[in-house]
Amino acid sequence: MQLDQLLQQRLQARREASLYRQRGLTDSPQGPVRKLAGQSFLNFSSNDYLGLAADTRIADAMIHAVRTQGVGSGASHLTAGHTQAHQQLEDALAVFTGRERALVFGCGYMANLGVITALMAAGDAVFQDRLNHASLLDAGRLSGARFSRFGHLDYALLDAQLHRSRANHQLVVTDGVFSMDGDQADLPHLADVCDAHQAWLMVDDAHGFGVLGELGGGCAEVSGLLPARVPILVGTLGKAFGTAGAFVAGSEALIETLIQFARTYIYTTALPPALAEATCLSLQLVQTEHWRRQRLAELIAQFRQGCAEAGLPLMSSATPIQPLLVGDSQRALQVSEVLRQQGIWVSAIRPPTVPVGSARLRVTLTASHTAEQVNQLLQALTSAWETVNAEY
Ligand SMILES: *Cc1c(COP(=O)(O)O)cnc(C)c1O
Repeated sequence: MQLDQLLQQRLQARREASLYRQRGLTDSPQGPVRKLAGQSFLNFSSNDYLGLAADTRIADAMIHAVRTQGVGSGASHLTAGHTQAHQQLEDALAVFTGRERALVFGCGYMANLGVITALMAAGDAVFQDRLNHASLLDAGRLSGARFSRFGHLDYALLDAQLHRSRANHQLVVTDGVFSMDGDQADLPHLADVCDAHQAWLMVDDAHGFGVLGELGGGCAEVSGLLPARVPILVGTLGKAFGTAGAFVAGSEALIETLIQFARTYIYTTALPPALAEATCLSLQLVQTEHWRRQRLAELIAQFRQGCAEAGLPLMSSATPIQPLLVGDSQRALQVSEVLRQQGIWVSAIRPPTVPVGSARLRVTLTASHTAEQVNQLLQALTSAWETVNAEY
């Protein structure tokens, strides 16, 4: 069969299953109101939780750095691409996370692949929450270690799996805040289970950093656990930090090991130094502009109360990720489409991003939304829900 013919069949099957993905083409910066094909939409689909992605101070810092340092880093970190700006960001992230060191990666996907494949190999075992981010699951499979998943937040099952395991080394991996559900890992409990089996704990807190904790230190800060109990901590910079890239924070030995062995760190061009410089400012704003987290907390409370009053099927979440469970993929698309007609942009999240039968509308709130905008969302959601359910 010709390649294109085969691909057309696959694409058609995906359309028929209501799983086809389309990219909304925007022509305005990230923010609560965005333009799609010239029309304005209220945006409840981004991970820009603190509203920093289009912050003009961060933009100015980046422009200034580009003027003085140019755009491209021109090389990988291990050859000639590691600059003062990268180093400063790493040092600042180490202080921020209370770890000995931090290492900046090109993105979160690469950080996760790099860490797990550098640390684990055949003869070892990796244990993951089944709702972990795709990059973690892919990394576990790629590592060559024995790979098991446990039920979401089912630490009793994990405990039993660890107990049975005869692997040389055991790595337990979890999202801090689960990206499509908004709920959180119980880190103290997880750390206890890991300690009981001398397993290592890795937490990817892509959605917790900036959002949770007095200083935005995420799940690790909230848990109050000593760094040694969460020896591998991953964060991304493209969500609450509003820039791009990711980091791993941990001990001196961990970071040196990653510099030596993490292939997604070694064999790739360093991020533009100006981006690192802009992120240094973003990191300061994350820590000092507490009002952003306060605003978020108010909006989350308002949204949850509104949904409860309207009888909407909210999932259990205290974070800016506030999904409404629909179940059926086609129906989730329909609700999203009806909202779109009312000028509201909320993505329908479908398998394989979430388990089959658990399609949902993933509403995300940010510090730059207003109470009025959340009210508009609630009204539109209530009517969209009625419209779509009336058709069933
Ligand atoms: C977004 C995300 C990633 C990937 O980070 P990028 O920098 O976007 O590649 C990794 N882990 C989790 C939990 C995420 O939500």
